[in-house]
Amino acid sequence: MKRLTLHAVGVTRVVPPHKYPLTYDPTNVFARILRGEIPAKVLHDDEHCMAFYDVTPQAPTHFLVIPKRAIATLSDATTADESLLGHLLVTAANVAKQLGVAEDGSRIVINNGAGAGQTVFHLHVHVLAGRDLAWPPG
Ligand code: AMP
Repeated sequence: MKRLTLHAVGVTRVVPPHKYPLTYDPTNVFARILRGEIPAKVLHDDEHCMAFYDVTPQAPTHFLVIPKRAIATLSDATTADESLLGHLLVTAANVAKQLGVAEDGSRIVINNGAGAGQTVFHLHVHVLAGRDLAWPPG
């Protein structure tokens, strides 16, 4: 098992390795948002994806773009998902433009697996903007 140090909170935890494809849990919080079971501040909604504000923003503007297809992590995506993945990125860029945060730049992040900090196992694209963003990320 991989020992992961969460620098932001100074704790170490053991992360079980993933075997792909990861079993998709339909009770995850984003699946529940897609089903309308819990509320979200929705920025965009179409046939293939939804964008909404992150409930715990890490930047003045922080929203998520999620597919409507049940994909747990980026590593679970297949070639059949290629156009969907492109659509998520174009939607991320378009929503950033609509919010007026595109010109100053934004950070697009996909945490791929628990070892990379993923906590919700429904694929999602983070868009962060509105402050200086350091590189490399923590
Ligand atoms: P990750 O750590 O990459 O899996 O990101 C999951 C993100 O989902 C975190 O930034 C959380 O703040 C966010 N999140 C969790 N629950 C909700 C929710 N109900 N509505 C909006 N964002 C959420």
